[in-house]
Amino acid sequence: MTDYDTVSADVEHEEEIPEDHPRYQDLLTRHRIERGVEKGITHLQGMHAEGRGSAFDYLLGEETIPSADEAERAAAAHLLLAEKPVLSINGNVAALVPGEMVELAEATGADLEVNLFNRTPERIEAIADHLRDHGAEEVKGIEADARIPNLDHQRAKVDADGIHAADVVVVPLEDGDRAEALEAMGKTEIVIDLNPLSRSPQVAEVPIVDNIIRAVPNVTAHARDLADADEAELREIIEAFDREAALEDAERRIRNGEL
Ligand code: ATP
Repeated sequence: MTDYDTVSADVEHEEEIPEDHPRYQDLLTRHRIERGVEKGITHLQGMHAEGRGSAFDYLLGEETIPSADEAERAAAAHLLLAEKPVLSINGNVAALVPGEMVELAEATGADLEVNLFNRTPERIEAIADHLRDHGAEEVKGIEADARIPNLDHQRAKVDADGIHAADVVVVPLEDGDRAEALEAMGKTEIVIDLNPLSRSPQVAEVPIVDNIIRAVPNVTAHARDLADADEAELREIIEAFDREAALEDAERRIRNGEL
């Protein structure tokens, strides 16, 4: 028996999870979702979504594959070129990467908007508070005074001066119906999802097949690296990115990965 076997499923603080544990990222994400459920920011169904993601991440070798890194650089270029970029935050995103999303918003001039599948005023407020605790100054999605066409009432709610007006939206861990409806509105969608076969990455202009806990800091790092790039250079990065090849590469890796 190694020390690793003694890592309890209900550690108090994430610092108690040893960073050299072979399943460190999985334990960390599970821990953050559990805390999110306790704090009322994550719906219990979020644990199920996380479990699915965790299986794909295992098959990807729990690392950012080169095609995902290219997608993350293309995402940064889109965000820097956008007139009105918005980052959509649901319960799992808030639980897993609150500070990281705030940093990405700062690095790209994007707005943060809470957008929930299971929407209640309490959860919206809890998530907005959680983001403010992590440094967010303005959080959208509370008014929700506009609708995404062709979606049922609750899931369609967005801010008129947020997602509704955005040209580029980052929608991590998004459900397929909403991703399709946003695409139909003509948004440039950047989707972060570990399942390359899921509908959301399939409709995204930039599908990022990577764990959100690695993907978001890496998009931010690319955005900082490209902060002084001119429009031509950013457009070149966007043009060079091949979404079909990225999806195929991730699927191949999942099917044939050597563990
Ligand atoms: P769809 O509605 O598009 O057909 P779905 O029903 O599988 O897909 P949801 O359960 O709404 O989608 O969303 C969860 C998605 O998020 C899954 O595809 C899962 O693989 C992915 N996911 C879960 N955890 C993570 C994570 N930490 N990082 C990236 N993706 C994740």
